[in-house]
Amino acid sequence: MHTGSCLCGAVRFTVEGELPGPDACHCTQCRKTSGHYWASTDVKRSALKVEGEFNVAWFRSSEKVQRGFCSTCGASLFWDPIGRDWLGVAMGAFDAPTGTRLAKHIFVADKGDYYDIADGLPQNAE
Ligand SMILES: [Zn+2]
Ligand SMILES: [Zn+2]
Repeated sequence: MHTGSCLCGAVRFTVEGELPGPDACHCTQCRKTSGHYWASTDVKRSALKVEGEFNVAWFRSSEKVQRGFCSTCGASLFWDPIGRDWLGVAMGAFDAPTGTRLAKHIFVADKGDYYDIADGLPQNAE
């Protein structure tokens, strides 16, 4: 069982089971919403329990995706591909230990120009 929360604690969550290796997404939307790049792990909706769900605000960032954040502190928490049975949960919101390691970088073609990716992990252009 893994636990996590937003910065202010108004939203808390648990995820049942192991956390799959997270992706780091460098696309423009993820950079704008997170302030840097976005690392998240994809978990089954049925494995996620959210406490204080009424404090989660949703922004429809594209036709098929909404992003959930805390309406009090603004912490980015969820990347939700509408209608799928899974969603992405922000790695930064988890309490340690997460028991997982970053698996790959995605959308590196859109990455910011102010940093390098030098950890040797796979990099996908999209
Ligand atoms: Zn909060
Ligand atoms: Zn992205």
